[in-house]
Formats: sequence, C-alpha cells, structure tokens
Amino acid sequence: MKPFNYLTPATVEEAVSLFGQHSETAKYIAGGTDVIVKLKDGWMEPDYLISLKKIEELSELRKNENTGDLTIGATVTHATLEKSIMIQKEYPIIYDAVSNIGSLQVRNVGTIGGNLMNAVPSADGAVPMIALDGVALIQGPGGERSVEVKDLFIEPYKTVLKPGEILKKITIPAPAPRTGSAYIKFGRRAAMELPLIGIGVLLSLDADLETCARARIVLGVAGPTPMRAYEAEKLLTGKKITEDLLRQAGEKAADESKVRDSVRGSAWHRKEMIRVQVRRMGLKCLEMIKRN
Ligand SMILES: Cc1cc2nc3c(=O)[nH]c(=O)nc-3n(C[C@H](O)[C@H](O)[C@H](O)COP(=O)(O)OP(=O)(O)OC[C@H]3O[C@@H](n4cnc5c(N)ncnc54)[C@H](O)[C@@H]3O)c2cc1C
Repeated sequence: MKPFNYLTPATVEEAVSLFGQHSETAKYIAGGTDVIVKLKDGWMEPDYLISLKKIEELSELRKNENTGDLTIGATVTHATLEKSIMIQKEYPIIYDAVSNIGSLQVRNVGTIGGNLMNAVPSADGAVPMIALDGVALIQGPGGERSVEVKDLFIEPYKTVLKPGEILKKITIPAPAPRTGSAYIKFGRRAAMELPLIGIGVLLSLDADLETCARARIVLGVAGPTPMRAYEAEKLLTGKKITEDLLRQAGEKAADESKVRDSVRGSAWHRKEMIRVQVRRMGLKCLEMIKRN
C-alpha cells in the first residue's frame, strides 16, 4: 500500500478546505471499509486521506420531536442504527437493511454516508433511504445544497457530488400514520455477502385501512443504481390493497427492473425474486399497519 498522510479535521469547513488544498491527491474516508480495501488493492492511491470521523455534527442521530423528522448524520454507523430502539420500532425498513450488512465488525465501523457515497447498486443502506423519501444535505466549496437520495446516484461508483463535497446528513420526513415498511436482501450465503437483489417496500394506508395513500417500491442490484419501481408504485396508489394487487405490483416491478446476469446470479432469478418478494414485503407492511 502506498504511504499517505492522514488528516483529522474537526469541522466540515476544515475538511472542505483541506480537500481544496490537496484536491488532486485527496480522498475522504469515514469507516474505511470500502476505502481501505481499495487502497490495499491499489485501486486508489491518494497522498492524503481526510477522515470525517472527528467531525461531531456528522454523527448525529436524532428525531425532531416537533416535526417528527429524523436526522441521520453521514458518519452514523450501521451498528448504531441497528441498536437504536427508535429505528427498530419506527423505521423497520432501515433496521432490516443495516442489520444485514456485512459482519458485526463491518457494521461497527461502516457508515451510512460511506454506504451511499460508495454508490454501488448493491448498497443495502440506499434502499430504505430512498423508500423513506430521504433528502441528503451536502456541503462543499460552493456552500450547502440538498438532493433527494433517489437522485444521488449516476452510475456505479459515481454520485452527483462534486469534488470536495461532503454528505453531511440525511433527513427523513415524519412517516405518515398507518405506514408499514420492510426490506429483504438475498445473497448466496447467509452472512458477509453483498445482495444478489435487495427489495424495499413501504405502504401508507388511508384512514379506511384499505386504500393505499402512498407506495414506495425500491430495488437494489436491479440496475446500475438503486431504483424506484415507479410503475408498480402507481399501480398500488389510490387503490384498495389486496394480495392480488400486490402480486400485480410485483410483476410490474420485475418488468421495470433492469436486472442482468452477473457472477452472483442470473437476471431470470433476480426477476423471480422481485416478483415474489414485492408481494410478500407488501403483505408484511399491511400486517405491521394492522398491528400498530
Ligand atoms: C467484508 C465486507 C462486507 C460488506 N458487506 C456489505 C453489505 O452486506 N452491504 C453493503 O451495502 N455494503 C457492504 N460492504 C461495503 C461497506 O462496508 C459499506 O458500503 C459501508 O457502509 C461503507 O461505509 P464506510 O464508512 O466504511 O465508507 P468508506 O470506506 O470510509 O468510504 C466509502 C466511499 O465514500 C466516500 N465517503 C465516505 N463518507 C463520505 C461523506 N460523508 N461524504 C462524501 N464522501 C464520503 C469515501 O471517499 C469513499 O469513496 C461490505 C464491506 C466489506 C469490507
């Protein structure tokens, strides 16, 4: 591994300024679970690693009691999210996704920001952030800006962030009443495996407990970036939800997906899993709503 300088700024402004001084040869690092692998394999050879871990404001995990909005700082680890009772109870789709990432060791240091910024289609953390209509706050040399998480990704390993920009936090608007959400990941092994496919479903019902007020169907590893199945969502919205309608939504989502054959699995298998699991995750959401 090529030697590098390790810088530990205390504020976002300082980090952005350090990046500006060394821009051609600098790289941000959070938990390092992706960066260190790339350094070791020689895919990346920065002279400066700028750590974001000492920046206190990036590690905030807080629910605003007045608005109900949830703030997840970029350096919040998967383990912190997994252990949070609030996340377990109120955001099951986040819990489902982060509690299945890598191993305990990976979850202890890997961050939600690093997961999104690495920008692979298999990022487990991206699916719930999109399903919950998360908004990313970004800061860079040009100031602050907000981007919906669904619009962050351009292609594998590429986001809309410009050089020097830092993802500060994700804000998730208060979930509507009568909402259920769930995520399922399939790999070839039970642990330490990137997903073959990841499927997230969120449903909100009207007061009649039958009509779908909002549907989100989000797929990981179903295209070059995590994606929403808009047509399948449209099929559900405004209609009385039945198992048959959820089955149709699964078919639609499978048709909309851009799955392909890869070393980890075939396109046919991925489509079948979308077809079946959109229905199952939808039913799980309905159960949750009834229980609560
Ligand atoms: C053994 C193993 C198993 C894994 N299993 C899974 C899995 O099951 N599911 C899964 O989704 N991932 C998995 N991963 C990938 C990885 O652990 C996660 O993507 C993790 O969340 C990355 O976070 P990090 O903090 O370690 O990122 P880092 O490695 O520190 O950074 C990743 C990238 O994001 C950039 N970056 C980090 N934070 C910011 C920020 N705030 N603003 C701007 N840029 C930033 C870095 O410059 C870098 O390009 C696995 C990795 C390993 C090594």
